[in-house]
Amino acid sequence: MTVRSVSIFTAELPFHAPFRISLSVMTGTTNLFVRLEASDGSVGWGEASPSPSITGDTAASMAAVAPRLARTLLGREVADLGGAHRAMLLEVPGNPTMRSAFDMALHDLAARKAGLPLFAFLGGARRVFQTDNTVSLDDPDTMAATARRFLKAGFRAIKAKVGTGASDDIARIRALREAIGPDIPLRVDANQGWDVPSAVRVLTETTECALEYCEQPVLRRDHAGLKAVREAVGVPVMADESVFDAEDALALARADACDYLNIKLSKSGGLWVGRQIATIGQAAGMACMVGCMSETRLGLSAAAHLMSALPIIRFADLDSHVDHVVDPVVGGIEIRDGRVYLPEGPGLGARPSEDFLASCPRQDIEA
Ligand SMILES: [Mg+2]
Repeated sequence: MTVRSVSIFTAELPFHAPFRISLSVMTGTTNLFVRLEASDGSVGWGEASPSPSITGDTAASMAAVAPRLARTLLGREVADLGGAHRAMLLEVPGNPTMRSAFDMALHDLAARKAGLPLFAFLGGARRVFQTDNTVSLDDPDTMAATARRFLKAGFRAIKAKVGTGASDDIARIRALREAIGPDIPLRVDANQGWDVPSAVRVLTETTECALEYCEQPVLRRDHAGLKAVREAVGVPVMADESVFDAEDALALARADACDYLNIKLSKSGGLWVGRQIATIGQAAGMACMVGCMSETRLGLSAAAHLMSALPIIRFADLDSHVDHVVDPVVGGIEIRDGRVYLPEGPGLGARPSEDFLASCPRQDIEA
């Protein structure tokens, strides 16, 4: 079974409210859906969601490389997932976000062909698991109110964006812990916004807030800085921007630079390398999280299947669709009371609705 045709759909997805992190503010996202049709007529879906301040990829850069990646896959065996990864990496060494959509669609097709849900195709068993919901960066009172609203909606773990300055961030963390009470896990993400002294100050002065972990306190290449923070504070350190691929994960493990790894398909170029990162985490004793950019429930479903397949992935941050005004996905994961439920059925179990696709500009690439 080979790849017979490729279609790319451009999806404009506005947010309910602006989402702010220390690096950027987003009011919506332009995601690309990839539709791969195989020689037996079956169809697989993938999604690319750009986060320019993290990967450097944009909707325009993704659209620019998509036809080259499509032509790399046309005529290829669907089951050769590793070969496809290698071919795409050699064709487009950057743009992991666009590569991830093609990798996701190939995994969807291959699992469908096997008649298995993707998590089972990857060798795992279905899991129902908790996801946090992420509080956008704002003043302490606004962030506290948002966190309380998330608890009312059933979420049982809160992640908060910080990283604009030690004093402000200490006030934010204290306000959040006060708002959600002592028992709800609270995680923070500085998105590289601190230097080592600021990180140590914030994480030391908020000891009473019992943070579960801190994501990316310092610049992504600063492995020594990550290690220095980790050794100075009692809060586990999670690498996010520092870990795109397996080579990054190995370098972090060798440097003893972090406790946890955040896997995002849009950084790793998809599930193939996402699994490799998790395997390195397993061997190095670093538990993993699956995170997201601004995917719909289609891209989130791929990440949820990966989490379900691999027990070393202990944490989930699969909340991006909550911000979207429109949910264009049929099937896919559902979140009830902060828990993620995987779809039944083979493959990803998710696809964009025909109505929504009819509104999206489309590009077809054939052999
Ligand atoms: Mg992060």
